[in-house]
Amino acid sequence: MRKVFIPETQAELFDIIACNPKSRMFAGGTDLLVKLRSGQFDSDDLVSLERIDELKGVEDYGDEVFIGACTTHSALIADPVIQMHFPVLVKALRVLGSPQIRNMGTIGGNIVTASPAGDTLPPLYLLEADLELKTKDSSRLVGIKDFIKGPGRNDLAPGEILARVRLRKCPAYNLQHYEKVGQRNSLAISIVSLAAVLNVSDKGIITEVRFSWGSAGPTVITCKEAEAVLAGRPVSNESLEKAARLARKAVKPIADVRASAEYRRQVSGNLILRIQGLLNGSGDSIQFAD
Ligand SMILES: Cc1cc2nc3c(=O)[nH]c(=O)nc-3n(C[C@H](O)[C@H](O)[C@H](O)COP(=O)(O)OP(=O)(O)OC[C@H]3O[C@@H](n4cnc5c(N)ncnc54)[C@H](O)[C@@H]3O)c2cc1C
Repeated sequence: MRKVFIPETQAELFDIIACNPKSRMFAGGTDLLVKLRSGQFDSDDLVSLERIDELKGVEDYGDEVFIGACTTHSALIADPVIQMHFPVLVKALRVLGSPQIRNMGTIGGNIVTASPAGDTLPPLYLLEADLELKTKDSSRLVGIKDFIKGPGRNDLAPGEILARVRLRKCPAYNLQHYEKVGQRNSLAISIVSLAAVLNVSDKGIITEVRFSWGSAGPTVITCKEAEAVLAGRPVSNESLEKAARLARKAVKPIADVRASAEYRRQVSGNLILRIQGLLNGSGDSIQFAD
């Protein structure tokens, strides 16, 4: 019969992993338990991370913020430090799954799952998140781009856990935006998503701009060329159209039950065109309503 271990400290966790090397850990279980029940994989024993307080919460160290891997999406949405410094992440978390999924699911589970549709990934790429990976005796920091190796593949070594996510506070952007196109408004896995951060000067010149797309390739897609045609210029329909064309070239979408590759390609560019409306205040608000 399968055993479920419920350690309360990291030290206990590492001892359990050492004695049960084939065990699988889970945090909220919204990915792992679903896959287990549907027979997508078989596992020996399970290890719950749910009671390990050291892996939860947000720590503000001034220039840097550390997020415990087992912090739930709901806890992050409600956290004042995350709201203040990383609105693009909060916007993505707000459209991740349903309230129940956000209450159970964790940022660490979303990252380790490495799904091309994972909603936290495009913002974490833009924010250049580093991941603290730990074993009983070692700790290393890996950039998110190096951690995600492909759909469902990551850089975790056997016996290693994702302990914390490190974010550096960035200069305040005028616009932090996340938009997800899905088949319906709630509980939809994205067909394509765009995370965007921009700074626009008083004179209307874009001084900084970064984009990243989810569900548009095997991992998160970025496009320096699209950013370059916008940076240093006033926002205009013409430059946004150019950027959208470059984005459509950069993405590497697949066709699946949710959408064709061509539809994903078109939408990836179209999402950039909405920036004009967002800056004029006619689209999604830059500030949070609540
Ligand atoms: C109905 C439904 C709707 C969903 N909608 C969305 C959605 O809109 N957007 C989206 O992005 N996702 C969605 N998901 C997927 C899922 O809810 C999220 O990916 C969630 O963040 C996973 O977190 P978790 O803590 O539940 O992961 P778990 O299921 O606990 O774990 C997932 C994987 O990560 C590993 N893991 C977890 N924590 C750690 C750690 N600290 N160190 C090492 N390995 C770890 C586990 O071993 C497992 O392999 C949905 C799932 C369901 C069932």
